[in-house]
Amino acid sequence: MTRSGRAASARVPTDTRPEEDPLSTAPRLVAFDLDDTLAPSKSPLDPRMSTLLVELLEHVEVCVISGGQFGQFRTQVIDQLPELRPDQGVRLHLMPTCGTQYWHRTADGWSQVYAENLTADEKTRATTALEEQARRLGLWESQTWGPILEDRDSQITFSALGQAAPVDAKTAWDPTGERKSALRDAVAALVPDLEVRSGGSTSVDITRKGIDKAYGMLKLVEITGIPLTDMLFVGDRLDPDGNDYPVKALGVRCHEVTGWQDTADYLETLIRELSDAS
Ligand SMILES: [Mg+2]
Repeated sequence: MTRSGRAASARVPTDTRPEEDPLSTAPRLVAFDLDDTLAPSKSPLDPRMSTLLVELLEHVEVCVISGGQFGQFRTQVIDQLPELRPDQGVRLHLMPTCGTQYWHRTADGWSQVYAENLTADEKTRATTALEEQARRLGLWESQTWGPILEDRDSQITFSALGQAAPVDAKTAWDPTGERKSALRDAVAALVPDLEVRSGGSTSVDITRKGIDKAYGMLKLVEITGIPLTDMLFVGDRLDPDGNDYPVKALGVRCHEVTGWQDTADYLETLIRELSDAS
């Protein structure tokens, strides 16, 4: 996809208007966080939200960007949408794992346009450091629900009790977060060129450094040719500790929501404004 607006200068936002009413100038693209913005965490879109997203696609490009894997996008978003017309489908952009992957609709369905995966060397060093340090700290469990280490291509994940462990077992494993922190710190010291983060209740994730939603939004500028100033981002965690905050810090116009119903109410207003403007 090429557009005349494509410019390297878009990587540095020069016209940032974070305080401006998002409705005062029409965005060309609206990007959404997924969990607790479009749907409850790890849950499918409500039919009301799916209808609103399809209506929104009549007016603007739409992106969903989340730290989660494509499989979650499929069950939470794609499977809940009706069959899109080709001209609607091409306006929908999916960015799993904060934009290190990009998926787009083609005539044959959804296809991965690119994925910036960890190299074989990075994967080996990450998995070796996780196993060695977990064993040293006495955190390598023998009774688990599925594998402890998982290669997600752009991310290596350690789950102390396995991927399929029940919630109560996971909660009981590290109620204070101390065990995860000890493992995180020990592993981070061994792979200083990679990002090592505490993930869910029993997990530690390793990715490339500097991958967050701001990274994904800049990738989106490259892909669509739409400058950041013509984008609007909607998310539930725009506070400085939140995972949506890097987008706000980048200077993108943002609208904060309290949950998917709040987003749905906001979209009804936005779609009305966009209809009136066209
Ligand atoms: Mg969220």
